[in-house]
Amino acid sequence: MVDLDNPVIRGYFINLVGEEGFKVVQKMPEGEVTDEKIAEVTGVLLNIVRRTLFILYENRLALYRRVRDTDSGWLTYLWKLELGSLDRQLELESRRILRNLKARLEFEEDKVFYTCKNQDGRYLFEEAAELEFICPECAEDLEYQDNEPIIKALKQRISEIEALSAGAAA
Ligand SMILES: [Zn+2]
Repeated sequence: MVDLDNPVIRGYFINLVGEEGFKVVQKMPEGEVTDEKIAEVTGVLLNIVRRTLFILYENRLALYRRVRDTDSGWLTYLWKLELGSLDRQLELESRRILRNLKARLEFEEDKVFYTCKNQDGRYLFEEAAELEFICPECAEDLEYQDNEPIIKALKQRISEIEALSAGAAA
């Protein structure tokens, strides 16, 4: 069973299909249902339901079956959530986020930054030197910026995601 209250899972879906789309995932009826039925049950607008289903389908998180009505000849699409590959999707997503955060952390640890007292901009040493250590916005001096708080926040975020994804996989 997928825990939709898990912050990693929740964040993943909101990022993928938005808040309204996440409602569809949360309130989706069991079994195979039409998009009209889903809109009725979830209270989400039909076009948002359709968009959500399409995105879920693209990410292998929903399936549909086409059924032809014998009288009218019209095709009906019956939808079903298929969250079996969610763990895999989450793992990929967590890895992507972690990779970005770690690259950012490495950058912060590697470089020296300069800023003015108004913090108008943030410049690498070479850039600040080119500006002769004067802020182009306010003409105040560009001074060394201690980026330890940024490094600390990045490390914190990395360990949070590592802990959460360990929890989501369990
Ligand atoms: Zn400035």
